[in-house]
Amino acid sequence: MNKSELEEIGAVIVAAGRGERAGSNVHGPKQYRRIANRAVLARTVEAFLQHDRIGPVAIVIHRDDHKRFATAMEDLNVPRSYIVVEGGADRQASVRYGLEALESAGIGSVLIHDGVRPFVSRSVIDRIIDALDSGSDGALPALEVADTLKRRDNEGFVEKTVERANLYRAQTPQGFDFEQILNAHRSAASDAMFAFTDDSAIAEWSEMKVKLVAGDPENIKLTFPEDIDLADRKLSSAMHSGHWLPDIRTGNGYDVHALVPGDGVILCGVEIPHDRALAGHSDADVALHAITDALLATCGMGDIGDHFPPSDPQWKDAASYLFLKHAVELVTSAGGTIMNADVTLICEAPKIGPHKQAMRENLARIIGIGMDRCSVKATTNEKIGFVGRQEGIAAIATATVAYGAGKHE
Ligand code: MG
Repeated sequence: MNKSELEEIGAVIVAAGRGERAGSNVHGPKQYRRIANRAVLARTVEAFLQHDRIGPVAIVIHRDDHKRFATAMEDLNVPRSYIVVEGGADRQASVRYGLEALESAGIGSVLIHDGVRPFVSRSVIDRIIDALDSGSDGALPALEVADTLKRRDNEGFVEKTVERANLYRAQTPQGFDFEQILNAHRSAASDAMFAFTDDSAIAEWSEMKVKLVAGDPENIKLTFPEDIDLADRKLSSAMHSGHWLPDIRTGNGYDVHALVPGDGVILCGVEIPHDRALAGHSDADVALHAITDALLATCGMGDIGDHFPPSDPQWKDAASYLFLKHAVELVTSAGGTIMNADVTLICEAPKIGPHKQAMRENLARIIGIGMDRCSVKATTNEKIGFVGRQEGIAAIATATVAYGAGKHE
C-alpha cells in the first residue's frame, strides 16, 4: 500500500476571485451566483465534502466576501465542516494560503480546485486520487484540444496555425503530494515567480512529475456571463435514464368568495350583471385568485395572501388582474415560461357560458400567452352544499410552467 492510501487527502477550493469577466458589477463574483437556485460555490464545495476519501477542506475566499460566503453555504446539503481562509492578491497567493491552512492537518496529498467549476464529478476526483495512489507527484484532468489552434497577429490576422498534437486543456481538481506542492508554492513566492496560471505549472517548474488523466467536458469553468445562463439552464433540467428532461411544473389554486346582496360579479376580469355580488377585500375575482395561486405554486412562491395581505389597505377594491400580473412577473423572473392556465368556476348562477370567450381573452392578455393556452370552464354544484345554496362561488385552477428558459434573477 502506498502513502496516499494511508494518509488523508485534503482539498483547497479557491474562490477568492472577483470575477470581472462574468460581470461582477451587476451580479457579484460568479462563485456566489445562483444556478438553479443554489450558489455555484455550494455545489462545488459539496462535491468534495461528499467524497469519502477527502478529509479536511479549505475554502479560500476574498476578505470582502465573508457575508456572501455565509449566505452561499446556507445552500450546502452536507453536514460537514470546512476551513475558511482569506485569499491573497492573486490566485497563486490564495492557493498558497489555502495550502498553509492545511499544513498541520497531517494530509499526504491535496486536491486544488476552482470554486467556479461546480460540475466536477466524482469520477474525475477519483481519477486524480487514483493517479496519486499509483505514485505520481501530481495529476490533472485534461481534455484533448479538438479545434485547430491559430495564433493571431496584432492586426487580427492569422500569424500561424499551431500544431495541436499532444495539446491538452487543463482542468481542476489538480492533485499533488502535499509537501511537494506546498514547497513549490513557497519557492515560487520567495523567487517572486507569480505568472503561473495553474498549480500544475508551479509543480512542473519545481520538477514534479504531473500525470494527465481524462478530464470531463462537463467540468466547465464558469467564466463569462453566458456560462452562468447555460449552467442555470442545464441544472434546471433533470437527468433521467440518460435523457435531459425539461423542468415542467404544475401548480393548483383554489378560492371561494361569499355571495352577498349586490348588482354583479367580476370573474376572470369580466363584469357580469347579477342580483348578487362577491364579498372580498379586493374585487373578489375568485377565478383570477385561483390562477394566481396556481402560478405561484410552480416556483414555491407561497400564495396570493403572502404577496397581497388582505390586512393591507392598498389592496382594498383592487382589480385582481394586478395580482395575476405580479404572479406572472415572479414566475418569469424565476426562469419560468407559462405553458397554460386552466380554471373551473363552480357556481349555480350567473351563467358563465356567454362570457367564457371574453374571460379567455382576458387571461391571454394578462398572462401574455396564446388563447389556445387559456381555458375557462364552468360547472354547477348540482344545488348541493354552499355553492348549491348560492352562498358563494368557488374556482379551481391549474397552471403549467416550464422552467430553465435561461431567464433568472
Ligand atoms: Mg380570494
